[in-house]
Amino acid sequence: CMSQPYRQTRARILLTNLRDNAKQLKSYIDQQPMLGVIKADGYGHGATEVAHAIADYVEKYAVAFIDEAIALREAGITKPIVILQGLYSTEDWLICAEQHFEPVIHNAQQIDFLTQVTADTRCVNVWLKQDSGMHRLGFFIDDVPTAVKRLREHPLVNDIVLMTHFAEADDPESPMTPMQLERFYAALHAVHEQIQGVSVANSAFMLGDDVLDAMGLTKWFRAGIALYGQNPSQAELSDAELLKPTMVLEAPVIALRTIQAGETVGYGSRWRAQRESLIATLAIGYADGYPRSVPDGTPVIINDQVGCLVGRISMDMITVDVTDIEGVKLGDNVELWGERLPIQVIADQARTITYELFAQVTRRVPRRYE
Ligand code: PLP
Repeated sequence: CMSQPYRQTRARILLTNLRDNAKQLKSYIDQQPMLGVIKADGYGHGATEVAHAIADYVEKYAVAFIDEAIALREAGITKPIVILQGLYSTEDWLICAEQHFEPVIHNAQQIDFLTQVTADTRCVNVWLKQDSGMHRLGFFIDDVPTAVKRLREHPLVNDIVLMTHFAEADDPESPMTPMQLERFYAALHAVHEQIQGVSVANSAFMLGDDVLDAMGLTKWFRAGIALYGQNPSQAELSDAELLKPTMVLEAPVIALRTIQAGETVGYGSRWRAQRESLIATLAIGYADGYPRSVPDGTPVIINDQVGCLVGRISMDMITVDVTDIEGVKLGDNVELWGERLPIQVIADQARTITYELFAQVTRRVPRRYE
């Protein structure tokens, strides 16, 4: 985006905090290998900038599909990149070979495409995904050995990492995780002599307690949301382990007016003033990624105090009751989430998850890297 946008609305990306979080996570897992998950443009932060910020603490990156990985290569990122949704043609295999991409292989058709490839160097590492209960992607237990055998036999394939993904890693009480782990072990026992690595942990599982016995193989952690400062697990982190916020969403006050008791604010006249009220209009709306679903009363931080959102979210504006806040003036910067107002608070208000809020900040919000 423009280097000096006219618009004051912005997402400040705190690269030092991203780096600190990566460092923190790396020490949390005793320096074992870690993927930095930077799909969806680095959870909305800017994939290239995130990649650079965390580079010292991750061995590889992960994105959803090949185009995201190519964009990183074009931006000069050289580490291997895992492609979480894998590939969909013979040509995709060749791109993986050429670009050091490591596809996740989750169905037999992907291996069929491989049989069309002739190769003389084992240069593609693959991540073989088991469906242990999430029922989205992956091979069932009984199909894992055949998949490993077919991959192993092909001269293009180098290391194989057996992986799975948990449906409820954020809930330590959930019976799903032990059940999925048991199925993972069943698959692992069948193929552990033919593979080089294992990977089950997303942020929640790695911050909980990664109990996976890797049977002597390399154990890979897949860090996503925790890099961006959020702890999705109910596991308590000590003060020294606390993760730091990485995005501060800000917008200026562009209008101020006093309205009389009984007047309403915004589309649908959802909010009605019970007293004479000072209303600040801020230059941010749902087209910027501020969620339209939040109710009246959702907090914002203005002049170090808490203002309350009133009235519906518009496409480019929101309105805030600042009657009780001292000294509000045009041009004041308001924090919608970030350092003083955790993004989790807004996610709760919007009945969604922090991932969605991060990913929904649209391109028209300039990112300012600090
Ligand atoms: N592993 C896989 C397969 C994923 O799809 C994702 C993200 O959705 C992650 C790891 C990272 O998850 P989290 O952001 O919860 O750490």
